[in-house]
Amino acid sequence: MGSSGILAVFKLLRRNFGRRRVIKQKDAVGELIKTILSQNTSDRNSLRAYNNLKKRFKNWDALRRSGIAAIRREIRIAGLANIKAPRIKEALEEVKKRRGSLSLGFLRDLDAEGGCAFLRSIKGVGPKTAAVVLLFSFGKPIMPVDTHVYRVTRRLGLLDKKATREEAQDHFSAVVPEGLIYEFHLNLISHGREICIARNPRCGICNLKKLCKYYKDVIASLRSQ
Ligand code: SF4
Repeated sequence: MGSSGILAVFKLLRRNFGRRRVIKQKDAVGELIKTILSQNTSDRNSLRAYNNLKKRFKNWDALRRSGIAAIRREIRIAGLANIKAPRIKEALEEVKKRRGSLSLGFLRDLDAEGGCAFLRSIKGVGPKTAAVVLLFSFGKPIMPVDTHVYRVTRRLGLLDKKATREEAQDHFSAVVPEGLIYEFHLNLISHGREICIARNPRCGICNLKKLCKYYKDVIASLRSQ
């Protein structure tokens, strides 16, 4: 499915989930922490962990200077605390060491590629985390591909079945028109959570089915039985 297919999907998603106005998160360091916390857990639990950190530390520099055990205690609810606590601390240490202060504001002046290269050079920061920080804090044209975006776009046939998540991120960042990336990302996630769910996609009530490769394949295989 080419870019016309992407636009057709975009329009139907907008019909289902509405327009999304870009709301830039001003605290990019907070966004980085929040995204690390969100790895392999629900939004609800990662937000609770994030709020615990905000309550416990008076600013992110205080968190950076604290011990790993104190961070671990506050983020236990988000799971994998033994991995995430040192990952957060090390990421903050790295920003401070390289930039001289705990700020990511300089990313505003870099293009998406340069920003991504900086963030990804920090240990524990993968392509999705880097893309989330750049899109949500600075409105950079880069499309984060999380588990929902990956599953839904592959089922729809917007992606080659063999494409990795990282390749998917590069592909969508290149082909989705710049001003549509934010909304496309969020509406694909809503679609993945509510309709195109992982185990049993609700194809019967899905208005994307006329565009969907997975649906066509299922129907074709039923007819051939
Ligand atoms: S038709 Fe089914 S598989 Fe295709 S997008 Fe809709 S819910 Fe997902």
